[in-house]
Amino acid sequence: MKLKLKGANVHFLNWRRGVILILGLLFLSQSCKKSINEESSDPPALSGVKEWFNNQQGGTLTRSTILSSLVPDWSHVEKFETEFTTVYEVELKNPNRIFLTTDKIDLSNAESYANKSIFKLIIAKNKKSNLFTGRYMNVVSESDTRTNVHYNNVKGFTGNVIFLSLSSNVQSVDSYSKGRIDKNVYGEKVMLNSREKLSVSYTDCQISAIPAYGQFCFQLDGFPSYCSWQIMGFTYSVHCVASDAPMGEDDGGLSQPPLTPPDVTPPSIEDPCARKAMVSAVVNNSYISSKNAEARTATSATGNEYGYEQRVTQVNGSTYINIPIRTDGSTNSFNSYFTWDSTNGYTIGDTHTHPAGSAPSPTDVFGMAVNLNKQALLNSGPDGYAFYTNNVSITVVTAATTYVVTVKDWSGFQSAYAAFQADPTMYNYSFATLAQNGGTEKALLTKLGNVLNVYKKIDGEMKPLAIDENGDVSPIDCPPN
Ligand SMILES: [Zn+2]
Repeated sequence: MKLKLKGANVHFLNWRRGVILILGLLFLSQSCKKSINEESSDPPALSGVKEWFNNQQGGTLTRSTILSSLVPDWSHVEKFETEFTTVYEVELKNPNRIFLTTDKIDLSNAESYANKSIFKLIIAKNKKSNLFTGRYMNVVSESDTRTNVHYNNVKGFTGNVIFLSLSSNVQSVDSYSKGRIDKNVYGEKVMLNSREKLSVSYTDCQISAIPAYGQFCFQLDGFPSYCSWQIMGFTYSVHCVASDAPMGEDDGGLSQPPLTPPDVTPPSIEDPCARKAMVSAVVNNSYISSKNAEARTATSATGNEYGYEQRVTQVNGSTYINIPIRTDGSTNSFNSYFTWDSTNGYTIGDTHTHPAGSAPSPTDVFGMAVNLNKQALLNSGPDGYAFYTNNVSITVVTAATTYVVTVKDWSGFQSAYAAFQADPTMYNYSFATLAQNGGTEKALLTKLGNVLNVYKKIDGEMKPLAIDENGDVSPIDCPPN
């Protein structure tokens, strides 16, 4: 927001904060009394929650976003326990009175929308792994007053609940009618300005946007302060389908919020040599190797990408379901679909070809993180979850070789995925720049080698790759097993 007024001394002031302060002082005695009563039960211990959130802001979220003006009020936190998770619901101070709405509104109605909107910060801690995840929740009531809906309790609520990532990307919009989900709604397709268009022109991204409205106040010396409502920006849901093969049909855009991550400790950081035998066994499996050969032949004939999902018949099983290879008729994309049930099979990987011979792309490998949050997987309990995290891989077949990527460090990989989600366009751009200078293998290892194992078939053997001391990509010689 830029306001240029020549010669005038312009102060931006937050009059609302002042009003709240005065009201707060007026009601101090009453509220003190009240809070003493409320706090007679123990206030929740915030072990690590605040630190985690501050780290997120200082780390992957340094970019300022639409919602970065929201300030957690750590003295108003509610805590909920589920079997596997501790959920902290933190009230947020909203000095600019930001609200989101999918309605087309007249700015003269903004005040009434602001009055029925509440933002909360939801932080969940997995009891076993101690890993945190966080998101924003915006509750926009249908009635004229705010409704204090809780993360786990929407009893009788009518209105919208919007979940957003900490980087302000829309994850889901649920419309409730008397406590039941009525429908998923979505923002209008946004009109991109020319700069934004340029930056996404090389991918086929569906960008949906929900406008964020807020109040902007300023004061000129000698004049009363003036506030106006305006669109502060848009919260986006970016859904890229064609840059390369995404794994999964609904990349988070409209999926249900992950309620309870199963009670599983993600595998600890893994030595690539320890995984080598397993990766080789998959690649050399007779079904997989014949499918890979079929895909490679089809690609050399047409120049298009071909692929298939690796699905087994049961959790902890090793019998593959026969999935015919197919193509989307594109030289640079292939869509694969995640299933996690006994009818369609349990998807523990996918394979597609790269006609240009490149190593797996960021979109390829982040498919493993997309699917980690699929509701069917989350619902399948600790066994299913562990089977997925221990076995998932993605395979890319080229004319010359085969690549397999597995996850070395799930926690680190999920953080990397969060960074990717925060700005896929920038992420892909920086990857492409690295690849131009040192090739796609090196770009992949540079960006994600600390959290992924990348294997390549060399002389008939799957070997983990690393960047050596000269800055070149070379295979790691594993001890014979
Ligand atoms: Zn690909």
